[in-house]
Amino acid sequence: MTFGDVSVTRVLEWHGPIMPPSEFVPDSSPEHWPEFAPDHWVAEADHVHCALQTWVLRSGGRTILVDTGAGNHKERPDMAVFHRLDTPFLDNLAAAGVLPEDVDVVINTHIHADHVGWNTRLDGDEWVPTFPNATYLMPQRDFTHFHGNALFEDSVRPVHDAGLVELWDESHVIDENLRLDLAAGHTPGSSVLRLDSGGDRAVFVGDLLHTVVQLVEPDFNSCFCEDPEQARASRRSVLEWAADTNSLVLPAHLAGHGAAHVRRDGSKFAIKEWAPFDRVSP
Ligand SMILES: [Zn+2]
Repeated sequence: MTFGDVSVTRVLEWHGPIMPPSEFVPDSSPEHWPEFAPDHWVAEADHVHCALQTWVLRSGGRTILVDTGAGNHKERPDMAVFHRLDTPFLDNLAAAGVLPEDVDVVINTHIHADHVGWNTRLDGDEWVPTFPNATYLMPQRDFTHFHGNALFEDSVRPVHDAGLVELWDESHVIDENLRLDLAAGHTPGSSVLRLDSGGDRAVFVGDLLHTVVQLVEPDFNSCFCEDPEQARASRRSVLEWAADTNSLVLPAHLAGHGAAHVRRDGSKFAIKEWAPFDRVSP
């Protein structure tokens, strides 16, 4: 897709059924899901169908990645679907015309395992930066909050030690088209990337919402939202802005068409139109 002077490409790392809706989005009820089958809900297994995807942006002559998925070979014993993955993500990226050395900026919307994974790759028994020429933009509050945990050690510390990390807080202007804003709640440093170019707008929301049901029911949190009230407030605020400015909403994990325009529907929202990206189905 093209927004003014910025192009946006979807690069998939993984997709599949991830967990039952009653666990993933405990605020939801069984009646919320059938209208979104099969792309977002697998009826037979009663599992939410999720994607891990990186958004590749080309803006102002630079190549920018939004979130880096779960990565290969990471030890994630507590997260079976991300444990010791071996996916052709770098081949998928190359198919989109991006080699690791071409990447100028990496954005981690927040520091969770499925958003920082490809920050690094295994070289022998050492984690090294996957994108050696990139500046990695990370929210200061998450860098502090998650400092020292397992994923920090394999996916954050190596790029920080290489001098590639730039920390930011509150708001950060990337160029004339792109700006990061804090949208805390899911984690203390969770952020959204706003694109505004030539009258076209989009917002990359990371895990402000994980599932399509939260796109229409802004008060529904996932089981991974650390501060429930703040997560609800941030979700509602960003979705109101997106509806009122006709901005495309691009979450990190929507399968199906991956993104949508929304409109207000009373105190909730409704899908106005899905994005034209190829459908990702179970
Ligand atoms: Zn995530």
